[in-house]
Amino acid sequence: MSDSRGVDSRTLLKRLRESLAEAGEGQERLDRVTTLIAKSMDAEVCSIYLRRDETTLELCATEGLNPEAVHQTRMRVGQGLVGRVAESALPINERDAPNAKGFRFMPETGEEIYASFLGVPIERLGEVLGVLVVQNKTPRLYSEDEIYGLEVVAMVIAEMTELGAFTGPGDMGLAAQHTWPFFVKGVIGQEGVAEGVVLLHESHVVIANPIADDPDIEDERLTVALDALVKEIDRILAKDFGATNSDHHDVMIAYRLFAQDKGWRRRMRASIASGLAAEVAVEKEQSSARSRFARVKDAYLRERLHDLDDLSNRLLRILLGREDASERGIPDNAILVARNLGPGELLEYGRKLIGVVLEEGSVGSHAAVVARSLAIPLVIQAKKITREALNNDPILLDGDIGAVHLRPEETVAKAFREKMAMRAEAQQSYAALRDKPAKTTDGVEIALHMNAGLMADLPSLEVSGAEGVGLYRTELQFLIRSKVPRRGELSRLYTRVMDAAKGKPVVFRTLDIGSDKALPYMKRTNEPNPALGWRAIRIGLDRPGMMRMQLQALIRAANGRPLQVMFPFIAQFDEFREARSRLLAEIEKERKQGHTVPSDVKIGAMLETPSLAFAPDQFFEMADFISIGGNDLKQFFFAADRENELVRRRYDTLNVSFLTFIEQIAARCDSLNTPVSFCGEDAGRPVEALAFAAMGLRSLSMRPASIGPVKHLLRLVDLSEARKVIDTARASGDQSVRYALINWLARQKISV
Ligand code: PEP
Ligand code: MG
Repeated sequence: MSDSRGVDSRTLLKRLRESLAEAGEGQERLDRVTTLIAKSMDAEVCSIYLRRDETTLELCATEGLNPEAVHQTRMRVGQGLVGRVAESALPINERDAPNAKGFRFMPETGEEIYASFLGVPIERLGEVLGVLVVQNKTPRLYSEDEIYGLEVVAMVIAEMTELGAFTGPGDMGLAAQHTWPFFVKGVIGQEGVAEGVVLLHESHVVIANPIADDPDIEDERLTVALDALVKEIDRILAKDFGATNSDHHDVMIAYRLFAQDKGWRRRMRASIASGLAAEVAVEKEQSSARSRFARVKDAYLRERLHDLDDLSNRLLRILLGREDASERGIPDNAILVARNLGPGELLEYGRKLIGVVLEEGSVGSHAAVVARSLAIPLVIQAKKITREALNNDPILLDGDIGAVHLRPEETVAKAFREKMAMRAEAQQSYAALRDKPAKTTDGVEIALHMNAGLMADLPSLEVSGAEGVGLYRTELQFLIRSKVPRRGELSRLYTRVMDAAKGKPVVFRTLDIGSDKALPYMKRTNEPNPALGWRAIRIGLDRPGMMRMQLQALIRAANGRPLQVMFPFIAQFDEFREARSRLLAEIEKERKQGHTVPSDVKIGAMLETPSLAFAPDQFFEMADFISIGGNDLKQFFFAADRENELVRRRYDTLNVSFLTFIEQIAARCDSLNTPVSFCGEDAGRPVEALAFAAMGLRSLSMRPASIGPVKHLLRLVDLSEARKVIDTARASGDQSVRYALINWLARQKISV
């Protein structure tokens, strides 16, 4: 060690590169590396601990400790000083390690005679792959320079680990990263199963030469890449997001600020000066941002750190001259793996994908909505998937239970294929029911409609055998764009929807935005509780321009055909009366201007707040139809946020309180002659659909893929018997009728 207790990292990295380039198995390389580091740093001990699996670290090479302990000494992440470095991803510097808090005595290593301890994480893109340790007998704290020097070496070891430089044969050898099977249980985004190969939305960057020959050249490469990055951002700003006042615009402006951040640039330059290649210098910053990210609770700050992460990815792509996945070819049977995805990006991939796995994402996110619309199985919140998966890895996706098997064992794959075969069989039997009515054995017929929102949905109308579109979510078209669509554009789109429906009815729901559905080009209002805030019809009535434009587009698209319009989130009679009169006024205006008006107009309301169920009779008489938006209605009925994983599954839809409420709505609509249907997600679940029918509903609207399974069940049951089962369960004090219904079906050997 030099007198100033510094480390000449450039010389050390140079030697390290020479040593790594020499022939030999992974173990020999590791041994050479520890010897070299110990010598260069004047340390009596240098050890490398690598992750054996998710929770275990193993001593893989050492200079100075007992060689017998190599591949014998193991510890859990979080255990002892080494385990704590791995857990926190932060260095630990101790002058008297054996007496430090958390020290774990491991007699087989003989380390108790070494007082000073410095451990740094071997970390790559926020993932700790191991721990690099130096130790000395004399008690002292290591200097800042030494810590920095060891961190730089650890970066190189991380890159080399990723490249498989330390893998070797036999039990004692380490398996290469990304080779072992990886299982993750996420959350169901869209049901369905798929077997395919991984397509990473953003490829892993593998850096073949982490140590640079000439820092000046690397510095220049970084400068050129940073210039290109700023130009790229400016280009995006000028092209797509000309409209100021949009969130995207703000994000891009933030990107540009980050790209010019002096601290960021300085830190990367310092890493290059210490001997790292430009790419590794970028990654080093990205890694530390990710560790910070993991500790940040504030949602806004997390978003900003995300931006920084995306920016580093862009910079790496520029340095490596790479494109992202949407620009590369898409392999057959591709299952897209991404951290998160915008709806527009998913639409670009479109039906070329057979499945999607997101590390983040929420059930109500727009990407989830698009995945549903394209009927692509989707698993969200699959933790660590983007770090584990490599392009072309085999992957099994079970959207029915939210499970993902990456590089599965053959036994798992076999069981999975059996499940897929069973599903395919069931699909065939559903297809055979396409033209048959959903009629129960006691002769009650239930009308089954489908939900839609994108042009991509329309072909399902014929394939599924739906009687019409019971809910057309018009906001999806607005959500996937970066600009407000124009009236002419919308009108052409609605015309195509009605044409594609070939005379089957389509119920257009006017814009339902706000809450979870934020338009990219609308200024976000900071609301304490958006689900209870300024959304849907509330925005429509307060900002009449957009609603008027949409209503005109609908009237023109109908062009003399019947038109059905439904207003979302009506909480009281007046809102409906007002929205309805605006539609009628628009029709009148169009007529006066000489446009062809619809041959027949039906105006309905969505019942999504309990209040509307108790509106005056006159409301029910004025509404041409009512559609129960069960997704929202349920969240308000139980006061349980539909987006919040902690509570969203807490209350069963078949809870007797909710069912009794549905029963009352159905009865009230019946007595006032108002047609009523149910269009929330629950309508597409067979047992729920059966219960709703038993409660008196005669019309349901659901995802096209659910029509088959729901029809299949309804055609097998006696509805009056089902009703008796529900009544008995209710009378006996059951909280939910699910158990009673499932048992009743099982007794008849009906599986659901
Ligand atoms: C509902 O709330 O049930 C509904 C159909 O509307 P959305 O899911 O679009 O809010
Ligand atoms: Mg709703």
